[in-house]
Amino acid sequence: MSNNKQPKKIVIVEDEPSLVFTLRDTLENEGYKVFVVDEGTHAVEKVQEVDPDLMLLDLMLPGKSGYDICSEIRELKYSFPIIMLTARDQEIDKVTGLNIGADDYMTKPFGVKELLARINARLRRASKYSKSGPLNAITLDPVEVNLKESYVKKPGQDRIPLTTREVELLRYLAPRRNEPISRDELLEQVWRYEYSTNTRTVDVHISKLRAKIEMHPDEPKYLVTLHGVGYMLKSN
Ligand code: CA
Repeated sequence: MSNNKQPKKIVIVEDEPSLVFTLRDTLENEGYKVFVVDEGTHAVEKVQEVDPDLMLLDLMLPGKSGYDICSEIRELKYSFPIIMLTARDQEIDKVTGLNIGADDYMTKPFGVKELLARINARLRRASKYSKSGPLNAITLDPVEVNLKESYVKKPGQDRIPLTTREVELLRYLAPRRNEPISRDELLEQVWRYEYSTNTRTVDVHISKLRAKIEMHPDEPKYLVTLHGVGYMLKSN
């Protein structure tokens, strides 16, 4: 089941009204569904109620600190991205924040555009590892790969259709980004040892796929060959 049509939900935990106003306004304009908690004690409750896709979490809050909230959320096994909002000169706290399960942090005052870019990046990354349903899209910046509709789109070009096998290959590789995958593993998992296939079959398909998804197929950036090992789909 695809979640793409439903707006992503963002919980903001922040006690500074002017910042809340700006964030809410900006995020709603971007099509996000926004929920605000303006103190610490009810933040976790809100998460349980809303089941958000991402959280913006202020560090210094009345009632309960951002650290405690972050720890509690991770203890409850929620895995959505958390971006912490820290005041200037709380630099030292970044390390603690990341150690207790925050994914990123922004130092106030920050530019809204930068925050948006980080939110989008975090959500993209999170959706690649989404627990439910098949993977529908991969971003190989600037190339867009749509697995649901089986096409690749490079900037300024027409859509390039993907074969069923290419989609299967990408579906296998995408959750294993940055892991070396051997030809034998691909033969076993993607081709399932079909009649008359061998590792050469894998090479031919990889090379065709590369021509579709790479901006410069001769110098692949994403679908790389690891000599003597196999292949690897690299992250952006
Ligand atoms: Ca605060």
